[in-house]
Amino acid sequence: MPLPEEVKKRLIAARRKRLLTAGEYVSGIEKGDRFILSRAITLVESTKEEHRALAREIISKCLSLSGNAFRVGITGVPGVGKSTFIESLGKHVIAGGSKLAVLTIDPTSNVTGGSILGDKTRMEELSADERAFIRPSPAGDSLGGVARKTREVMILCEAAGFDTIFVETVGVGQSETAVHSMTDFFLLLLLPGGGDELQGIKRGIVEMADAIAVNKADAQPAAAKEAKRAYRNAVHLFPAKESGWPVRTFLCSALQREGLDKIWQELRRYRSQSKENGYFELKRRTQALYWFEETIQERLGHAFRKHPAVANKMPELADAVVAGQITPFEAADDLLKLFL
Ligand code: GDP
Repeated sequence: MPLPEEVKKRLIAARRKRLLTAGEYVSGIEKGDRFILSRAITLVESTKEEHRALAREIISKCLSLSGNAFRVGITGVPGVGKSTFIESLGKHVIAGGSKLAVLTIDPTSNVTGGSILGDKTRMEELSADERAFIRPSPAGDSLGGVARKTREVMILCEAAGFDTIFVETVGVGQSETAVHSMTDFFLLLLLPGGGDELQGIKRGIVEMADAIAVNKADAQPAAAKEAKRAYRNAVHLFPAKESGWPVRTFLCSALQREGLDKIWQELRRYRSQSKENGYFELKRRTQALYWFEETIQERLGHAFRKHPAVANKMPELADAVVAGQITPFEAADDLLKLFL
């Protein structure tokens, strides 16, 4: 006999409140239970130490279940069409039988709420599809913190069976480096017309790209062709990639859903080729080392600032540095002595 609605509601509410054990979270995630996955992600994002400790346990248990997905970074300036592109390409990808998770790194998404990406209703069709899982950027007070959380969320999603992960970022600053260091392939979206300076894109970001797609080719076909040509010439001047992969330039319309199939084929080609020649695995290992070092730095910094004697002395020394009474190096050494 089905449970009465009222009882069901109460059961769900109780389930929602109670923290499960790490094992319960992991077995829920492994079964692909989206509700449990979401709750585990909330723990990863939490600032409470109790939640963080539980999250760490869940992540380390999920690690062996993760790593099999294809991780794609997607970037471009606000308005280039990232969410439209991800919606269109995402639909194409799930139609091909994949399970897709879309994560975001938005360094402007802070603890108090505001963000560049967060306010719009984005990717409505994908959000409604159970083969896709969309999670907005975790909040954080530093890019490093936001990036680390996103990476951990990625591990949970992979353990839950998502075989394709898109990590989107706003192409306005340092966040590309973070996305680049956690994905297998990096796709840069550009607008028709205008060089990278005009589009506010740093050259370093263009150099990071494994493929470039000029979006909105439907609206400005001539300018889009011109941009494609200009970028194709520009990438020839860059030093060859460590992967040996030749960067190609594409035209597409995310809105009209044109040109996406070719781009997806290119990504898949990269995946199989780099797996064959060993670069895929090499890059993953290098990334693991990067995150190892990042985590040490972050944890050390956190422990340092939390240390009572350091926290006590820090404001006084900071004032003295500003007043020119002590050099920054001496002041730092003094604090380090207290810590060590
Ligand atoms: P985001 O800020 O990079 O996520 O950009 P959005 O996906 O929100 O798109 C910004 C605007 O560009 C929206 O009004 C979209 O409808 C529009 N747009 C996105 N892709 C295309 C495209 O391929 N062609 C045209 N004409 N408009 C597009």
